[in-house]
Amino acid sequence: MQTVLTFDNQFTNTLPADPSDENTRRQLKDALYARVSPTPVVAPYLVAHAAEVAKLIGLTDDDAASPEFLQVFSGNHQLTGMEPHATCYGGHQFGNWAGQLGDGRAINLGEVVTEAGHWMLQLKGAGPTPFSRTADGLAVMRSSVREFLCSEAMYHLGVPTTRALSLMGTGENVVRDMLYDGHPAEEPGAVVCRVSSSFVRFGHFQLLAARQETKILRDFTDFVIQREFPHLLSSKEISTTTYVNFFREVCERTADLMVHWMRVGFVHGVMNTDNMSILGETIDYGPYGWLEDFDPDWTPNTTDAAQRRYRYGQQPAIGQWNLMQLANGLLPLIEETKPLEEALGHYAKRYEQGWEQMMADKLGLPQFDQLLTDQLLALLTSAETDMTIFYRKLASLNLDSESRYEGLQDAFYVTDQLTTEHQAQTEAWLDAYQNQILVQSPNNRAAVMNAVNPKYVLRNYIAQLAIDDAENGDFSKVQELLQILRQPYAEQPEYEHYAEKRPEWARTRVGCSMLSCSS
Ligand code: AMP
Ligand code: MG
Repeated sequence: MQTVLTFDNQFTNTLPADPSDENTRRQLKDALYARVSPTPVVAPYLVAHAAEVAKLIGLTDDDAASPEFLQVFSGNHQLTGMEPHATCYGGHQFGNWAGQLGDGRAINLGEVVTEAGHWMLQLKGAGPTPFSRTADGLAVMRSSVREFLCSEAMYHLGVPTTRALSLMGTGENVVRDMLYDGHPAEEPGAVVCRVSSSFVRFGHFQLLAARQETKILRDFTDFVIQREFPHLLSSKEISTTTYVNFFREVCERTADLMVHWMRVGFVHGVMNTDNMSILGETIDYGPYGWLEDFDPDWTPNTTDAAQRRYRYGQQPAIGQWNLMQLANGLLPLIEETKPLEEALGHYAKRYEQGWEQMMADKLGLPQFDQLLTDQLLALLTSAETDMTIFYRKLASLNLDSESRYEGLQDAFYVTDQLTTEHQAQTEAWLDAYQNQILVQSPNNRAAVMNAVNPKYVLRNYIAQLAIDDAENGDFSKVQELLQILRQPYAEQPEYEHYAEKRPEWARTRVGCSMLSCSS
């Protein structure tokens, strides 16, 4: 690489480190991170990289094509100025306090500074850390393809997210029991380099509070505010009010994130508090999925199949529950619950308002219409209906046409469900919709709708097809999808086949409709 990256490692320079540099599994005390280097890999190869993200951190196309890029972002070589480390956090997993978790397979390389800001570079799957517990610190190709593509897809959909710089194969195999059913098998290993200004999670605050390390909790919170929320600082010193304002802003960002997820039909799958970004970004792409037929009860995560805690329709409520845990984490600094409760109430209001505006936009209406929306949501669940296709078809539907029901056919999955009753219900709703359009007389309905209703999302089965190829050494689909998903709202007629609804074979195939946390 010709370009010399400038590092300013404020996290490691400001916050307390564990005194030991040994890579042994342990509980940390009075420390936020442990120094640990990536484990070298035998034969790294590049699967794909996001040129835009390279540019964001100051690298050129030539840099990204260089042998050094491959060595650095597979974990084999460190650049001058990098300070590899893993951070310590806790979290509530599926509603239960889990104690220390930490970066078990993520290693932060360092913070690059550019004119646009500062960027923490983080390898995922680069070997064990003190937080790996009983696991290996590695990642497999299938989950890495999913993380790499979905991070970039979300960014271009306008959803706050961590970014992905690169996806490398390691040339080594990793053993995984994909469905946790006693069938371990070897899979190709991979490493993704993720990029965000900060990878701080709710769980970082929670663990410090649980350990009653209040002085460190205060220093850490001050650090996060100074580094990531500088607009909250006035000339005065950081006070209780600053902490309350900080929490309030995290509530707002999280509410906005939930509105986006609901808009595009994204189901995170593992909304544990250790997977919640303090910046309100989507983080930790595991057994996530995209809604195909609109079903508020759907979750792709088989590990959560019984409770469905993290199902699509429950995500906004879980967001608030998680914020309540963060509030408990900040309580030692604020000492009264009232302002925190007030902020949690603010979350609910902000989400509600955001959701109403978003639903109005999805329908191309200047104003939200409660009844019309309620009726639509009932209609979408009355027969299996592809949410993404439905809204795109609706945008271009001629509402005066006799055959408008036929115009929506591509969105429906099961012919047997298209009864006269379903047709009548759909017609009735279209009448009501048309009526609202007359009343509200929106400008340019289709353009408004097509700007918020994507044509291309990373459908579960399409990601799986790209994975099948990548596991066989063919990376063209991964690269093609990366390109298509950069313009998710554009028609791109040559890629129409990537906008089609899930084929029947994918209904039950592992990886397409069922995913576990094994990755
Ligand atoms: P997740 O909910 O998948 O984000 O992970 C929960 C915790 O398990 C985090 O502390 C991860 O770092 C850790 N973890 C997940 N997979 C592995 C792995 N293969 N090796 C080590 N730690 C892991
Ligand atoms: Mg995680």
